[in-house]
Amino acid sequence: MDPRGFPTSLPEFQKVFPNDEACASYLEMMRWPNGFTCPKCNYVGKPYRFQTRSSVVLRCRECKANASLTAGTVMQSTHTPLSTWFWGAYLVTTQTPGQSALQFQRQLGLSRYETAFQILHKLRAGMVRPEREQIGGEYPVEVDETFIGGVHNKAIVVAAVEVRLRKDAEHRAAKHKEEHSGGVPLKKLIYAGRLRLRAVAGRSADDLMTFILENVAKGTTIRTDAAQSYRSLPGFYYVHEQLKIAGDPEKAEAHLPMVHLVFSNLKTWILGTHHGAIGPQHLQAYLNEFVFRFNRRFYPMTAFNSVLGLAAHAVSPTYAQLYSGEWRHAA
Ligand SMILES: [Zn+2]
Repeated sequence: MDPRGFPTSLPEFQKVFPNDEACASYLEMMRWPNGFTCPKCNYVGKPYRFQTRSSVVLRCRECKANASLTAGTVMQSTHTPLSTWFWGAYLVTTQTPGQSALQFQRQLGLSRYETAFQILHKLRAGMVRPEREQIGGEYPVEVDETFIGGVHNKAIVVAAVEVRLRKDAEHRAAKHKEEHSGGVPLKKLIYAGRLRLRAVAGRSADDLMTFILENVAKGTTIRTDAAQSYRSLPGFYYVHEQLKIAGDPEKAEAHLPMVHLVFSNLKTWILGTHHGAIGPQHLQAYLNEFVFRFNRRFYPMTAFNSVLGLAAHAVSPTYAQLYSGEWRHAA
């Protein structure tokens, strides 16, 4: 288990969610953190429960209406056991590289490839919606482009990523800055914040500026290489920190360390999981999936709830509750 309390391995995860009953209890707690409330008549109190271990139906004692625990989630009307969905959500949100349907089928011991494929497809649908809010603001943002794919179907991908200072490093960084004013970047004292990626048609100012204007808040400090296409940034109310000389990879690396790291991870993932073979029509969906996982890498539980379609406003159990099984008795 990691310090944030979320399981770090599938066996550990299976201890927390050993069967469909445990998964159903989790759904119940997410939906009614303060105890069952009938969606039809608003009766509050213990519902009738059905005896099968996998039952996702609760019945109101007052009006006798049924309420399904999977209503409004990605598991609605499913014939696949809840525990399979839960393990699938865990695998797609926490593992790097992401899962192919075949790996997924093997790990969950599913007899049919089609089942694995469909579950994966539905879980991924929750990851490929583009993230809309703008990044930057108080955090500087690195912007750069790279080529993705093989010789014949190369695509250009542009990235914007926040540069954040590690909390414990703020003091050290301040001292370091004093000692090296105007000097080298603070490697190891920084980490990547939120990320945005887009497949673009070309490297024109138009392609790149449209991406930046849609994804980075005005007033943000933006770091780029020496490319001509970025020269109009100050005219759009950004603070532009541009590398002065083009063509020196070491200087570019030092000026834009986070975005280079992102590109390296992205290429490894595409090669490892998809063998580099992603059709241009699917590229943006894969980029969005990468961004989803990247932006939630410190919040695995949020990612897990999100792909299952559990309401974003619902209160998650504390980790102590999760591990003690306390939440199983919420109603
Ligand atoms: Zn009722």
